[in-house]
Amino acid sequence: MLEDRIYTLNTYYRRMFGEKIYKLSLNPGTTCPNRDGTCGTGGCTFCSAGGSGDFTASPAIAMKEQLEFARSLVRAKGARRYVAYFQAFTGTYAPLSYLEPLYASVLSEEDVLGLSIGTRPDCIPDEVIALLVNLRSRFDKPVFIELGLQTMNESVAAACNRGYRNEVFEDAVRRLAAVKIPVTVHMILGLPQETREEMLDGIRAVCRLPISGIKLQQLHILKGTAMEKTYENHPEQFAMMDESCYISTVAQAVALIPPHIAIHRLTGDGPKKLLIMPLYTANKKHMLSAIETYLREHDIMQGQALLETFS
Ligand code: SF4
Repeated sequence: MLEDRIYTLNTYYRRMFGEKIYKLSLNPGTTCPNRDGTCGTGGCTFCSAGGSGDFTASPAIAMKEQLEFARSLVRAKGARRYVAYFQAFTGTYAPLSYLEPLYASVLSEEDVLGLSIGTRPDCIPDEVIALLVNLRSRFDKPVFIELGLQTMNESVAAACNRGYRNEVFEDAVRRLAAVKIPVTVHMILGLPQETREEMLDGIRAVCRLPISGIKLQQLHILKGTAMEKTYENHPEQFAMMDESCYISTVAQAVALIPPHIAIHRLTGDGPKKLLIMPLYTANKKHMLSAIETYLREHDIMQGQALLETFS
């Protein structure tokens, strides 16, 4: 079992809530400053038209209905308690007068035990942090933040049109940690022009910050993205990792992640209808099983490389 070797999200939630918790993917209807022209247009080059909301309901659907729909997707698995997850676009990028009732409506649901918000580090002003702290104490439920960093390599990030520098990310993490809001960081392995050693250096650097979780996934080239066009015109710029290369790289990353940081994701599951490359990622069950087998056969435990460094 993966739980024997890594600190999973499942374990993280069980420790916090004392039971199995399911995440409900919701669309808060917010846009993104990297799409609306505030800090850029066109978005990050790997981001599809639906952003991270390719699996969520339309933002036009009322939040109550979105919640009910998301519950219906996991009810057959025995799901009874949830963390609501605002996934599409930038979940803190709106006036407080929009965000406050939105967050409160979700937190007021009895079976929703917490709220996780996906956003960008340049969209977390102190007023938003104050709102989150206020809601956390009003509802007595935790609020989590997820940040799409993707890489710590500034030139790779600039080539992806990420739209902010690492110092902005580091500042947001520190301000959130100061009020004990847990932060999870999304990282992509395999971005163009980033070597495996640079990816792993990025993981090391991120894990030195006061974060509580990390999500890892391989680069997906999706239909309709700027990256798709570059891939078509300049395939030589893409050293796409094959399945075995990705598995060994993610295993090396696991060994570098300190055991107090929960690993929420080991492989991406991009929308199949949009996925161009790499096709092996479409079978998530197979990928997780192959990663688990690799960790077992190579006797790799989370954080093991750190222990070896200090022994
Ligand atoms: S990845 Fe996130 S920050 Fe980048 S364009 Fe998409 S929604 Fe915006």
